[in-house]
Amino acid sequence: MKIIPISCSFDNYCYLIICLSSKKAAVVDPTEAYPVMAAVEENGVQLTTVLCTHHHQDHIGDIGELQQNYVDLDVICYHGDKDRISTANKYVKDGDLVEIGDLQGRVIFTPGHTSSSICYHFQNHLFTGDTLFGAGCGRLFEGTPEQMYNSLVEKIEPLADETKIYFGHEYTVKNLAFAQQVEPGNANIQKRLDLIKRNNGVSTPSTLELEKETNPFLRCSEDEVKAFAERSRGEAVNDLVEVFAELRRQRNTF
Ligand SMILES: [Zn+2]
Repeated sequence: MKIIPISCSFDNYCYLIICLSSKKAAVVDPTEAYPVMAAVEENGVQLTTVLCTHHHQDHIGDIGELQQNYVDLDVICYHGDKDRISTANKYVKDGDLVEIGDLQGRVIFTPGHTSSSICYHFQNHLFTGDTLFGAGCGRLFEGTPEQMYNSLVEKIEPLADETKIYFGHEYTVKNLAFAQQVEPGNANIQKRLDLIKRNNGVSTPSTLELEKETNPFLRCSEDEVKAFAERSRGEAVNDLVEVFAELRRQRNTF
């Protein structure tokens, strides 16, 4: 298995997932067609599949163009997005398996950013779309704080620490600046910023372990994070979902 991150406009990332034994490939969230087609050609693979994490235009925008260039493309999305992704032709539910050549991935339903957001889990690689970002998480356009919190904590956090996280946008530096405001006592945040500088601003993929150490949205039970939420809200918070909701509110205007 080989994974190639592809930078697109609007600070998006899409990803080419290659099955090395069959030379078949899938693309996750093709914002733009031409860099995907270039990567397909460069690697000498057959593009068979598009994996959609959710319906936002900056993730599905160029699927139609890919369909014109590659016949019989499987375009997979969550069944709840059937009416919102007109280019899709295969629909999945939580726990379903998707195949790329000899590779198998599992669908994880993670509502919060939208009501039909999903992640794709291949071996120890997780494609999170706009659900989990480097040091952050997606805005709550359709879901409640409780839904997003449960998606992050109940669906993603239990995966292995070494799971590589491939997210949909490069917001990590700004997210880490917010994280420093939330947790000035967390030295891992500055270490991660230094590492990104050495990598010329690119931070994908990260690991679940790194997110657990530096992502405030996965650290709602830490005393310093809870104290930040209480200070900014001006009153006590009663549970971890309230801490999460206050963090998300503050990040929206950061
Ligand atoms: Zn989105």
